[in-house]
Amino acid sequence: MNNLFLDHNLSSNSWFGVGGKAKKFFTPDTENELVNYLKKIQEDNFVTIGSGSNILFRDKGCSDTIIKLGKDFRKIDIIEDSIICGSGTLKSFVSKFALDKGIENMEFLSCIPGTMGGGVAMNAGCFGYEFKDIVKEVHAVDKNANKLIIESKNINFGYRKTNLPEDLIITNLLLRVAKGSKEKIKRKINEFKKNKNNAQPSKIKTGGSTFKNPNSNYKAWELIKKSGCDKVQFGQVKFSKLHCNFIENSGSSGQDVEDLINHTIDEVNNKFNIILEPEIKIIGDK
Ligand SMILES: Cc1cc2nc3c(=O)[nH]c(=O)nc-3n(C[C@H](O)[C@H](O)[C@H](O)COP(=O)(O)OP(=O)(O)OC[C@H]3O[C@@H](n4cnc5c(N)ncnc54)[C@H](O)[C@@H]3O)c2cc1C
Repeated sequence: MNNLFLDHNLSSNSWFGVGGKAKKFFTPDTENELVNYLKKIQEDNFVTIGSGSNILFRDKGCSDTIIKLGKDFRKIDIIEDSIICGSGTLKSFVSKFALDKGIENMEFLSCIPGTMGGGVAMNAGCFGYEFKDIVKEVHAVDKNANKLIIESKNINFGYRKTNLPEDLIITNLLLRVAKGSKEKIKRKINEFKKNKNNAQPSKIKTGGSTFKNPNSNYKAWELIKKSGCDKVQFGQVKFSKLHCNFIENSGSSGQDVEDLINHTIDEVNNKFNIILEPEIKIIGDK
């Protein structure tokens, strides 16, 4: 099979720049290739990834098959009153497409890395907007190779999560379209980008927010700071000075990142009796 790679290095598929090898790494270019593969591998576990901007791959690699969608899953178009896009389309590209067509409410996509599929799976968001606000339908293939269309009203979107099964492969999205002024859209994108650049580090090896904000009076970054973990370093891994919920990897292993995450969970729990939940997905063999 052309798009199946054995012992494939995962580090270039994660923004942290770390990770061992995937036993099998499958990159179907078409939905047919995906469906045919799933029919063959019914016993195998798999994980679908986007750009890996929210993933930490472990150093020992991954026995589960990694699926990363290819060419046909990066298409974008307008049909009737919706945008249809492949789940592998970058969010920034959708935001630019919407700007060109004078479609509003997609401005926030310009500020979040990664693909549209990863955005749905995480119900990603910023500046008060989330994926739940723009998704009309999720088109997907399940582990038994059945094609599904799920209306947004039947999806439970929560804080950086949904109730979609983890082994559902999101293939395409139908997005709501609201017409707006290009001038206003452009202004909003610029304002969002400026705010984001001021508040969060860019050009570092990171996975974005490490922990979700807990149900408490404190945000995750405050607990990291108050517990002193913002000063802790494992190898070349530490929290960013600009935003101390972002981990910065300046050349260490995945284990150092995971150690810092676990150390922080323990310290915050010991000092504040609050258990921080990672927003970052940790994938691979222990
Ligand atoms: C610098 C930086 C800034 C960030 N800022 C934000 C922010 O402002 N707001 C925010 O919400 N997040 C933010 N993030 C986190 C991350 O960018 C988002 O969660 C993003 O939506 C992940 O997209 P991805 O394509 O990289 O997904 P990945 O990281 O590859 O995967 C994330 C999850 O989605 C699943 N997934 C991916 N594609 C599919 C698919 N096709 N079908 C089924 N499941 C799939 C994966 O299995 C995994 O569980 C930031 C990250 C970085 C590095």
